[in-house]
Amino acid sequence: MKPPIISFVGRSNTGKTTILVQLIQELARRGYRTGIAKHTHHGFDLDRPGKDSWRFSQAGASMVLLSAPQGVALLESVEPEWELERLVALAGDRVDLMLAEGFRGSEVAKVEVYRAGVSEGLLTPPELLLALVTDTPLDAPVCQFEPQEVAALADLLVTKLRLAPRGTPAATRTGLPVGLAGFEPAVDQPVPDRTARFLSAAAALHGHLCAGQVLGVRMALRGCQELEITPPDREKRLLVFVEIDRCATDAISVVTGCKLGARTLKFLDYGKLAATFLDLRTGRAVRVAAREDAREHALSYEPEETDPLQAQLQAYQVMPDEELFAVQPVRVQLPEQDLPGRPRARVRCQECQEGINDGREVVRGERVLCRSCASGVTYYSPVHLVF
Ligand SMILES: [Zn+2]
Ligand SMILES: [Zn+2]
Repeated sequence: MKPPIISFVGRSNTGKTTILVQLIQELARRGYRTGIAKHTHHGFDLDRPGKDSWRFSQAGASMVLLSAPQGVALLESVEPEWELERLVALAGDRVDLMLAEGFRGSEVAKVEVYRAGVSEGLLTPPELLLALVTDTPLDAPVCQFEPQEVAALADLLVTKLRLAPRGTPAATRTGLPVGLAGFEPAVDQPVPDRTARFLSAAAALHGHLCAGQVLGVRMALRGCQELEITPPDREKRLLVFVEIDRCATDAISVVTGCKLGARTLKFLDYGKLAATFLDLRTGRAVRVAAREDAREHALSYEPEETDPLQAQLQAYQVMPDEELFAVQPVRVQLPEQDLPGRPRARVRCQECQEGINDGREVVRGERVLCRSCASGVTYYSPVHLVF
């Protein structure tokens, strides 16, 4: 069995190590056995030149096991460096939870340590971010703790990881709790699965959990699955066309990482709950549309539920994709001037003098005009205030 893992990330000098030390003390005081995995770019101290263990390694031993009355150490040559999950598997069931420092790129749940003046923006994608430890309140939809609130942070970890309650705090020897007779192992799947994590990140951004968030998360996951892209897309491969500006659109943005302001999310005002996912690298695209009969179907999944919206919220989480969506491979022609990246061109409207990016101008004979000046109609009309 593998213990649950929480990795603490943050730039250097944010105070990660101090917080981890205090957290380990707090968890030990409560009787939990905590392991810690630390990432280091340099070698480690055990491997000092001249020591016997170093000489054995140098001679070509691929594993050196050191034993002393107080403990054991294992030195193994690996290539490439192990991923965090593999490292943590070494712990087996000998710890209740594993903390880690670093391993920013790992797919495990994270606590990010933020310090004003040192940190710049958050490093962790929202669906992996469990909590923040920060000396300044941040605009992020997760639990936030001040650096001295280590006990509250420990409470959160114990709850989220569903760590079995401990009885008497264990006596300690060399800092490690011993004699945990009668302890129950932590639940096997303590951290919610990917869908659930995306759903809570989407609900936090959107402001509430609703049936639209469930559909949006599932549509986006299905689209990414069809294109074999791991969400959220960090390789700038994905572009999404959404056909409605309602709840699901926020969720699609959270899952895919595609944003209107990055030109990777295109809004088409069709009033339809559908989205097309385009892989910019391969040109493959798939359109995922909500089935019209899914709403009624949902009610049959939750016959006890009298509120249809609640029934949909519940049912959409368990209904198979086939009952929710129609999935259709499609082709999308995307003009160069609609692609993400820097603006391709910029001209000035000869009527209103405002700048126009990316070829949105209209040429009328000799004149270059913006769309509103060219058509003479626009969504606003000037108001002349008289004081
Ligand atoms: Zn909503
Ligand atoms: Zn104009």
